[in-house]
Amino acid sequence: MYKIQSAKLLKEVMTSYFLGMKDTSKKMAWCTSVGPAELLRSFGFEVHFPENHGALLGATRTAGDFIPESTKLGYNNDICSYLTADIGSYLKKQTPLQEHYGLKGAPKPDLIVYNTNQCREVQDWMNYFAKEMNCPIAGITPPRHVDEVTDTHIVDVSAQFKALIPACEKASGKKFDIDRFREVLKLSKEATDLWKKVLWTATNSPAPISFFDATIHMGPIVVLRGTQVAKDYYAALLKELEGNVSQKIGFLAEENSRIYWDGMPIWGKLRPMSELFIENKAAVVASTYCNSWVFDAFDEKNPFESSAKAYTEIFINRSEDAKEKILARLVKDFRIDGMIFHDAKTCANNSNSRFGMPQRISEKLGIPTLVIEADLCDLRFYSEGQSTTKIETFLEQIESSKVLSH
Ligand code: SF4
Repeated sequence: MYKIQSAKLLKEVMTSYFLGMKDTSKKMAWCTSVGPAELLRSFGFEVHFPENHGALLGATRTAGDFIPESTKLGYNNDICSYLTADIGSYLKKQTPLQEHYGLKGAPKPDLIVYNTNQCREVQDWMNYFAKEMNCPIAGITPPRHVDEVTDTHIVDVSAQFKALIPACEKASGKKFDIDRFREVLKLSKEATDLWKKVLWTATNSPAPISFFDATIHMGPIVVLRGTQVAKDYYAALLKELEGNVSQKIGFLAEENSRIYWDGMPIWGKLRPMSELFIENKAAVVASTYCNSWVFDAFDEKNPFESSAKAYTEIFINRSEDAKEKILARLVKDFRIDGMIFHDAKTCANNSNSRFGMPQRISEKLGIPTLVIEADLCDLRFYSEGQSTTKIETFLEQIESSKVLSH
């Protein structure tokens, strides 16, 4: 059976990251997943990402135990299940971090920072904790759903980045050091370049990494970007995958179809989903979800402006037209035969099937699309039997149309 050997190193990297949180002598910042992590790291903060914790609750299928706790507080069942699971876990004082890493819970923050480039939900979520923990909070609210990022946007957002400095100085007890910020951003850029190369190894057939593998291996680029550890990890992973490409080893010996996955993973069903596609010899090789931590624009020579550009031009923050152009490019680069859109019931922000995009894409690019209804964490919104049948039928159709066209 195909196995990515670097998974062992990944486990060590992630374990050391979580165990590092036991060191209470270091200042702690909480940050949204596409928030200004580099700026925070330049002040020496350890950084905790509540969304990463939300994904952990989803992947360990414990989210269902916690969501009702948030519902009791008035958080609706159909809002972000990362938010409801994470707040519920806090209220219940239970987390898989206890069992896996001996942590009582997420470490107490000295500062909370958010960026609403992905959604406004993160602002509410972080504000809840800021009030609850009596912690200072600061944030960036960039223009949303942009076609292209313009100079005006960059002026606005880079000023917002700079405006975070006094809060960071106060909470960290350190003066801002532009050289340190440049160094951290350079490390982040190097890691993100390697991560992109890792993902792009899947343009080869057979592909050495699937979307499902990538959702696991993206851990360091989410929680450790701006560190040497993340850079070293992706250098090792890339080396392994490039070796596999040169030996023509992939997770499928034979690919009957190549699939793009749109939107969030269904964290509690990663393994059965991966197995379902493998059984059908369908290689799920691309996603904009994993690509969200590819920040081409980072440039330490212009740290604020380039951070503003990189974090504002992420896929989730783009117009429908801009998204469709990005998808067309991926379909070409990854030689995609069909696209699956995950309509995540508690995340409208990262569900692209609701305003006719699958139909438009299908018409423009001439490839079939399928929408499946599920959720990132809340498995009450997912019917496994129904989705399996839909996916199998979809894959059979792709295969038979490929046979007919040959
Ligand atoms: S993008 Fe979606 S899943 Fe992520 S924090 Fe926002 S609402 Fe939640």
